[in-house]
Amino acid sequence: MTAELIDGKAFAATVREKVAHHVARLKEDHRITPGLAVVLVGEDPASQVYVRNKGRQTVEVGMESYEHRLDADTPQADLLALIERLNNDPSVHGILVQLPLPDHIDADLVINAIDPAKDVDGFHISNVGLLATGQKAMVPCTPLGCLMMLRDRLGNLSGQEAVVVGRSNIVGKPMAQLLLRDSCTVTIAHSRTRDIGEVVRRADIVVAAVGRPGMVPGDWIKPGATVIDVGINRVEAPEKGMNEDGTPKTRLVGDVDFDSAAQVAGAITPVPGGVGPMTIACLLANTVTACCRANGLSEPEGLTA
Ligand code: NDP
Repeated sequence: MTAELIDGKAFAATVREKVAHHVARLKEDHRITPGLAVVLVGEDPASQVYVRNKGRQTVEVGMESYEHRLDADTPQADLLALIERLNNDPSVHGILVQLPLPDHIDADLVINAIDPAKDVDGFHISNVGLLATGQKAMVPCTPLGCLMMLRDRLGNLSGQEAVVVGRSNIVGKPMAQLLLRDSCTVTIAHSRTRDIGEVVRRADIVVAAVGRPGMVPGDWIKPGATVIDVGINRVEAPEKGMNEDGTPKTRLVGDVDFDSAAQVAGAITPVPGGVGPMTIACLLANTVTACCRANGLSEPEGLTA
């Protein structure tokens, strides 16, 4: 391997330290404790793990964590009423509704019912528009984490060729907007892109957010490029042995073929341990930013886009 490894776990720890420092200042100087409300509807096992981790890390940095667990058959009107209460609660500075929501609930309606100033996921249509027009927005956590890692490694991103593979509303599109805001020349590739290898080969910065294990091989990477792998894919790993039920054990891999890409790239994020840990760290960063904005205080440096 020739590429430098970008250690997302270590980077996320530094982000959490900065957040904890700002939380302490808010408490000491202003008697304000930032609060994050997380709403979970139903019993999706993966969502339960995410919500537990978010709650634990929120408390660890000194913030208040408010968890609202609702039954899977909770009527949409009840969920909207809860969001209205949280919007009006001055001790809540950030609101996150864990996705996916059950089928009978209109996720867009629910997300757009959150006060945009408390929308720490950055999914409200107002925040999408603010980001697209270069105004002060709440920025989605995963792309914000990627941007922080890129700025840390490359400094000023101006003029860099950036290719984002994937155009989802939660990763690809906001990532492209952030890179554009930092004056990169941005291309978004997706499932209909022709000669995608050729497109990716132009890039000084590659962000892969697709959900297909190892789809970006090393020979798509320009020598020296910085590669950010957002993908989280669980694949069978028979080399790790078998489970009790006779099925092979599994492991997590990214959208980039790490072994071949690491021979060519200048720097690369691993999976796991790359972008993943940054997402919750950026949720905490967004909550402290939302708290500062709500109280007319200056924003924490280095924690916003
Ligand atoms: P989506 O499924 O919403 O979007 C995937 C995108 O990839 C689509 O735009 C799709 O294109 C594109 N795509 C699919 N197949 C191809 C292909 N063969 N060539 C080029 N583009 C393709 O996924 P998300 O954005 O939500 O997530 C992407 C990955 O990132 C997943 O692995 C997910 O688990 C991970 N993730 C990780 C997070 C973290 O914290 N690290 C957070 C969020 C996501 P089209 O629009 O044309 O269909």
